[in-house]
Amino acid sequence: MTAPGRPGGVPSNGTQRAVMYAGPGRVAVGEAPMPALETRAAPGVLPRRCDHGVIVQALATCVCGSDQHTLHGPGAVEGMVLGHELTGVVVETGRDVERVRVGDVCSVPFNVACGRCANCRAGLTGHCLTANPARPGATYGMGEGFGGWAGLQARYALVPYADFNLYVFPDPDHARERLLDVAMIGDILPTGYHAARSAGVGPGSTVYVAGAGPVGLASAVACRMLGAAAVVVGDFNRERLEHVRSVGFAAADLADGDLAGTVAETVGVPHVDVGIDCVGMSDAAVANAGADGSTPAAGAFNDIVAIVRHGGAVSVPGVYPAGAPGTRPRLGVWLGGVWSKAITVTSGATPVRRYQDELATAVLRGDVGIADAVGATPVPLEQGADAYERSGAGAGRKFVLIP
Ligand code: NAD
Ligand code: ZN
Ligand code: ZN
Repeated sequence: MTAPGRPGGVPSNGTQRAVMYAGPGRVAVGEAPMPALETRAAPGVLPRRCDHGVIVQALATCVCGSDQHTLHGPGAVEGMVLGHELTGVVVETGRDVERVRVGDVCSVPFNVACGRCANCRAGLTGHCLTANPARPGATYGMGEGFGGWAGLQARYALVPYADFNLYVFPDPDHARERLLDVAMIGDILPTGYHAARSAGVGPGSTVYVAGAGPVGLASAVACRMLGAAAVVVGDFNRERLEHVRSVGFAAADLADGDLAGTVAETVGVPHVDVGIDCVGMSDAAVANAGADGSTPAAGAFNDIVAIVRHGGAVSVPGVYPAGAPGTRPRLGVWLGGVWSKAITVTSGATPVRRYQDELATAVLRGDVGIADAVGATPVPLEQGADAYERSGAGAGRKFVLIP
């Protein structure tokens, strides 16, 4: 379909405001290329033709813990647009797009998935076999190692394979009214929900969630949606633990060193059915961990193995690095604990699109309260660098950038 001009008459060969990588650990808001259905090579972006794509104008684009990995990891290049969580309005559609229309309000899953390969067909949209020439699995704003797709923390963005990827809200006005809630279905709510469901959380389950960041809180919310009887969220960060209590979950202050005791107070016994690792690992922590054998990099994972019952399950949404080709980071995983308790482990990038229809309905029609639970905090896109700094420093909030 040929689309009318973009709002404001923005030319496709101009520039736009965007949040960009500005060197190790640094972020700047500046001018980036306008997206087009035919992408040109740019920092972290591969050239390709996307007649199956659309251009989305951002309503809300969130900052994620995974963006911090990009800032400190090896895959970022200067000038690269960051971000992978977007809710917006479609302003232009490619020739081969049939279902999505100009004016649709939509949620963009963080995975780029072709919808045509064996993994996409099986629902494994986090491991698409074609959207990333480097390896299975693609996402936005993480450079060529993740497929070379431009980031979404910008006024406009390209979404490829739009008919397959986009969740279109049936009532665009309702979605706009509840923007902070629906902004959470592009990543963290599906991530928490996938983590909980993969580990078999259901009515009466008892759960320990490691990490009180946005993913931990979204996991706790997902467990409550699925009928869990008790959810304990653990962290060292006092501000975040205070927030955990204020939104109705039990909190374990790990600085006390008695996780089993805290779990017993809430659950009645010193163990849980399921543990969810919403901490993961930064590359820097892996490099520094375990030099003297005393600080395993997989600390949160091992705490979970210790607290899960025999025959229980552990889910790992938190990111652990696979290492450069040919290397295998030593993480100090307590595999003996996993084996002796016959624990089932499940992990990996969330197939976001699989869950968006039911989660959108639950968020808009039910009483999920996801924005409040994760402390969703709107800030202007222009203040993106500040939002990165505050979330990196452990502020108990999920920052939502508004252009
Ligand atoms: P975050 O950094 O805001 O939160 C992590 C929290 O863990 C912090 O509050 C920190 O104090 C706490 N923590 C550190 N060590 C701990 C320990 N041993 N036990 C308990 N808590 C501990 O990050 P976030 O945005 O909530 O994301 C969490 C993880 O999930 C990141 O690794 C992120 O990349 C990942 N993630 C994965 C997916 C996926 O598809 N699997 C999707 C989104 C995010
Ligand atoms: Zn994310
Ligand atoms: Zn695919």
